[in-house]
Amino acid sequence: MPDITINDRGAVLIDKALTIDGHSTNPLRVVTHIHSDHVRDLSKSVNHCRGVVATPLTLDWLIELGHKVGKGNCLKLDYGSKIKIDGLEVTFERAYHIPGTSQVVTTDGDGLKTVYTSDFKKPGKGTPIVDCDVLIIDAVYGNPSHIREFDDYIEDVLTDLVRQLLSKGPVVIQGYHGKLQEVMQVLRANGVDAPILLTPKVYRLTQVAEKHGLKVSNYVSVDSEDGAEVMRTKWFLMMDHVNSRYSRNLNGFKASKILLSGWEFKKPYRYLGYSKWLVAFSDHADFKGLMDYVINSNPKLVIVNSVRSSYADLFADAVRRTAKKECVVMP
Ligand SMILES: [Zn+2]
Repeated sequence: MPDITINDRGAVLIDKALTIDGHSTNPLRVVTHIHSDHVRDLSKSVNHCRGVVATPLTLDWLIELGHKVGKGNCLKLDYGSKIKIDGLEVTFERAYHIPGTSQVVTTDGDGLKTVYTSDFKKPGKGTPIVDCDVLIIDAVYGNPSHIREFDDYIEDVLTDLVRQLLSKGPVVIQGYHGKLQEVMQVLRANGVDAPILLTPKVYRLTQVAEKHGLKVSNYVSVDSEDGAEVMRTKWFLMMDHVNSRYSRNLNGFKASKILLSGWEFKKPYRYLGYSKWLVAFSDHADFKGLMDYVINSNPKLVIVNSVRSSYADLFADAVRRTAKKECVVMP
């Protein structure tokens, strides 16, 4: 079996060759996507690893977010392309999470395949389920009660709410980088055509993502002349990072706000008061989705990464009982 450990920072170490989403002394560092819990200790890896690898969009987004990954040992790897490091073959497979996210597939000298899923949703639909010998999974929603029955139609729920609120005035959507870009693409695909105002950082990240195939169109930066023009029309959608203060300055507009959160299991959306709504739009599979991946990837061993899981032990128990798989929790 491959030699796998997970350190207390959540880094996945495979065969003294690879370190995924955290730093170690292994020579190749992979970054699966830009979320902060997956880019831990990246500067250490840039300085000490032989190589740092990510998809082209992830690497360009990391640069935009201020990480020093522009040159030297940093390498862009497309989905489906292969790289070899100390006898281990490494391939990226798509993951439906935020744009640029990859699952990491390794094959060792004995032909044994290991998959680290990273974050994902819609297994078998947007996220390919990879057949493997060892499956490493972050059970973000590892509690059997973490089930969102409405996951399959949440995009339509969000679209309908946005449309309804736009008929009354401006709408602000708050979420994390990556999710905001995904949501814009979903709304455009569903026919929402209001101009989109973006805060400066979200604007730059969206421009970068468009170069890699994201489809949004008709968006402007809030601090541009076009942005001021759009604001005067009082009919727009604004996308803002959840920790940013930008949209707080919109008080004069009577804007409706939508907060995107995955930690909501009872209802697809609810009113929070003060023109604010919560939509249970998640970028993570719920408990059922996680279990679906485990069963259908057909692994001999499942490893649950406790650093990025909630209820890792509970999830491991469920894997043993329901999927009848050998399962360990690390670290
Ligand atoms: Zn993530």
